[in-house]
This record gives sequence, structure tokens and C-alpha cells, in this order.
Amino acid sequence: MYLFHFLKNLTKGFYHRVLPSNTPTAEKPVCNICGFRLTAPPDVLSEREMRSCAVCGSTLRFRAIVAALQSELDGDGQVRALTRIPRRKHVKGIGMSDAGVYAFALQRKFDYLNTFYHIEPMLDIRSPARHYLGQFDFVVSSDVLEHVEGSTDRTLANLRALLKTGGILALTVPYGFHETTIEHYPDLHQFRIEGEGAGRVLVNVTKDGREQRFTNLCFHGGDGSTLELRIYSYPDLVRQLGEAGFTDIRLHAADHPEWGIIHRTKLGLPITAKAA
Ligand SMILES: [Zn+2]
Repeated sequence: MYLFHFLKNLTKGFYHRVLPSNTPTAEKPVCNICGFRLTAPPDVLSEREMRSCAVCGSTLRFRAIVAALQSELDGDGQVRALTRIPRRKHVKGIGMSDAGVYAFALQRKFDYLNTFYHIEPMLDIRSPARHYLGQFDFVVSSDVLEHVEGSTDRTLANLRALLKTGGILALTVPYGFHETTIEHYPDLHQFRIEGEGAGRVLVNVTKDGREQRFTNLCFHGGDGSTLELRIYSYPDLVRQLGEAGFTDIRLHAADHPEWGIIHRTKLGLPITAKAA
């Protein structure tokens, strides 16, 4: 008993700073992934790739895609802390190289499997293994599709194929509002990366045997294949999602300052779509 009070008093200061006592507000925002208070200022919380939760390390992108997915799964558009929603182990989800920050949180709530391009459990979205098809209530794909070789139509059709009818795709990709998707290397066929660091060169041999060399490559962080191959056009992406068999395509542009979701730009926001 004494030990309990001792520990309680010891940790009181910490918990008072980070544990929300009631509903979060814009002034006292809470991380929707770990449920602890966000203490970073708004200009830090609104950085897409900056780790701005001192407890779990979530970024704006992580909080926003989890909020988009959770609000679609709950079906009422309301954002809630993942820690506060009931466990639903009958809901099956799959991630594509999801960050541990939210992958572990999803694992605790759902029957969720994170997959990778280069290590087990593997998923090659260009040709997903048969045992993945039609299995899932949700798929998370965050900043992955810009790295996937081959036709974007086929990739989106394969994402649809992973889902049960009515399943939810939660997606982020770099996009602009230009008319058509910009493919940096439209004739990519057999290619390799030569050199190191900023001097890396992409050497490609096209289908008809021509050699091409590209410099000024754009790599994103992380393991596996992180060369940026394209910048999606948002209108193009919406059209392709429709053609791939998705409906209810939604851009989650609303701010939720109480959950540390503050967007300074309309680029790269989460998109959700339902498998028709
Ligand atoms: Zn957090």
C-alpha cells in the first residue's frame, strides 16, 4: 500500500503533464495514437514528418492517417484516441511498411499484420501472394506507392484485391493538383542504382534496349526501395481509385487541433476509399 502511494506521488507530476484528464482541446491537444498529451507547439505539430509526440514519437502524417482510418472504421467521422477505442480482434488489417509508432498501436486493437517489401512478412503489391487476397477489412499504405515500380493502375487494383467488399484503404502519397501523374522514369524496365550518396545515378535499360542515365535522384528515408518514382496528380489518383473498384473516396483535409492534426498545406493529406 505504502509502495503504491509512493509510486503514485512519484509519477503524479509526469502524468499530470501528459495524461489528459478530460476531453482534449486545441489548447491541450492529445496524441490520438498513444493517448498522451502533446506538448509541442502548433508549428511543430503541423510539420508532416517531424516527430512531435514526446511519448510515442508520432508525426502529423502518422496521427492524420490513423485518425482517417479510425474515423472511417467507426463510420461516424469522429476522431478518437486509438487507446480508448475497444479492441476489435475480428477486424483484419494489413500495413505496407508502416512505422512502428502506429503499427504496434494498430496491432493492439485489431488483427493487424505489418508487411514489408524486403523482409518477412513480405508483400509485393505488384503481385500480392494469393493468401492475402480478399482477406482484409483495412489496408494502410503510407508514402509507399510513389516507390512502387510499374503501372499505377495495376498497383491500385492490387490494393483493392487485398480488401473484402466494404473494406477501407487508408492512403497517403505525395501528390499535387496538376492534371496527370508525373512519372520521373516512364521507361523504367531493368535498372540499377550506381554510386553513393548525392552522386547516385539511376541506370535504366528500356524495353527496347536503350540505356538511360538519371542523376538528381530523390530518395525518401527508410529501408528497402525508397527512390521516388512519381508525383501523383490528385485528380488522376481519384480517377484511378474509382477505376480500381473504390468508392467513397475522401480527402481528409479537416484540421483536428485537439488531436494535434493541423495541416498547413493541402498536399500529402490522408485519403480513404472503400472497396466497392
Ligand atoms: Zn503519441
